[in-house]
This record gives sequence, C-alpha cells and structure tokens, in this order.
Amino acid sequence: MANTSRPARLITHPTHSYHALVLTAAGDNTFLCDGCRCHGSGLCYRCARCDFNLHEHCATCPPTLPSFAHPQHALTLEPFPDGGGSSRDAAPRDCDLCRGPIKGMSYRCRPCGFHLHPTCALLPPAAAGSAFHPEHVLALVPAAPRPCSACGKECVVWRYRCDPCRIDLHPGCLHAAKSAVVVARPTRRTAMRFGIELGRRFRIGATLTVDRPKVN
Ligand SMILES: [Zn+2]
Ligand SMILES: [Zn+2]
Ligand SMILES: [Zn+2]
Ligand SMILES: [Zn+2]
Ligand SMILES: [Zn+2]
Ligand SMILES: [Zn+2]
Repeated sequence: MANTSRPARLITHPTHSYHALVLTAAGDNTFLCDGCRCHGSGLCYRCARCDFNLHEHCATCPPTLPSFAHPQHALTLEPFPDGGGSSRDAAPRDCDLCRGPIKGMSYRCRPCGFHLHPTCALLPPAAAGSAFHPEHVLALVPAAPRPCSACGKECVVWRYRCDPCRIDLHPGCLHAAKSAVVVARPTRRTAMRFGIELGRRFRIGATLTVDRPKVN
C-alpha cells in the first residue's frame, strides 16, 4: 500500500526554536544533523540562514517511543546530550544499541540509564530483503560478541541475525555487498565488555537471550 502522508514543508523544532525549518532535498550531499550529530543524506529539515539541518526522522520523531530493545518503559526524546551540565554523572553516553557515542538528541529511559540514537530507536525488530542475506528475515537481537558477516568488525551486543545460517550483521551492514566478506575473531576486550554489559542488564531486570558458544 502506498504511503500517502506527505511530510510537512515547514516545521518548528525545540532544538532550533529561532526559525522555522524547511523540508529540503540534500540529494547525494551528506549533511551533519544538528539533532543527533550524525551524518545524513536525502531529505532534511533545514534553516539555510543558520546552516542548521535535521534528519527528516530527527525532526519528526515522537516525544516518547516504545522500544523492543527496552520493553520495560517508554523512552523519552531529549533534545540535548548529557555532558554539558554541572551534574557530575552527566557524562556523554554510548548508544545501548550500536555502541556509538551519543553527541546530540537521544531517546532515553533515565531511571534505567538506557540511551538510543533516534536512528537506532527506529530500527525495525526484523528486516527482510537484506542485500547481504536476501534468503531469510533477520531479527535484531542481543547476543555474545561475534564478527559481522559482512565487514568482519565485531557486533558487540545487538545485531541482525539469521540463526540457521549463522549470519550476524551490523544494522549498517544489512545491505553490504557480499564480496566484502572478511573473517575476524572476537577480541578479549569486547568479550569482557559484553560481560559487564550482561551484569548491568540483569541488575536492571531486563531479559537478554544469549547464545552459548558451542564447545567443540
Ligand atoms: Zn539526526
Ligand atoms: Zn535558524
Ligand atoms: Zn545507536
Ligand atoms: Zn527503563
Ligand atoms: Zn558490519
Ligand atoms: Zn539465513
């Protein structure tokens, strides 16, 4: 079914309350999103006067969001990152899904200390039609560190997985070309980090399904 809802041409946003933002096609040019501080391409909401840009989804994402990655509580969109305030524990955080640093807007559950990039909060729990593994639907799941089947770099916690085929993919590698296959081994450092991660998640009462490594 075709999506008939068109994005609004003009919006206002709490991260740039001075001027209205205009829906603009950035084309192939990448822009830095001033909301999440990640790069983007395609449609953006822009204030040309201030050279201020927002991903379309960062400009229009809802103030609260349920997430399968943190089913206990709804997540709240916060327009600014931690770290700028006077509070001692307001250190910059990594995204709990992709482990990348959060430099701008994020979805948070403050009581649990759970943080997601807006882009990561919108990842679907299942993905069909992966260019790398088109045969099956891949599920976004947390598991023990394992190299990405496409780029060879470690999938630390969350990854798109096809269990029967033993395929693990970073969200960004779902559509990687198959020729890019690299084999790498998990490092001890990330295995330890995962142990810490597990402990933290169990303390906050989350459930986490982890594949036990096969012992040969
Ligand atoms: Zn953004
Ligand atoms: Zn402006
Ligand atoms: Zn993320
Ligand atoms: Zn929570
Ligand atoms: Zn990858
Ligand atoms: Zn498969």
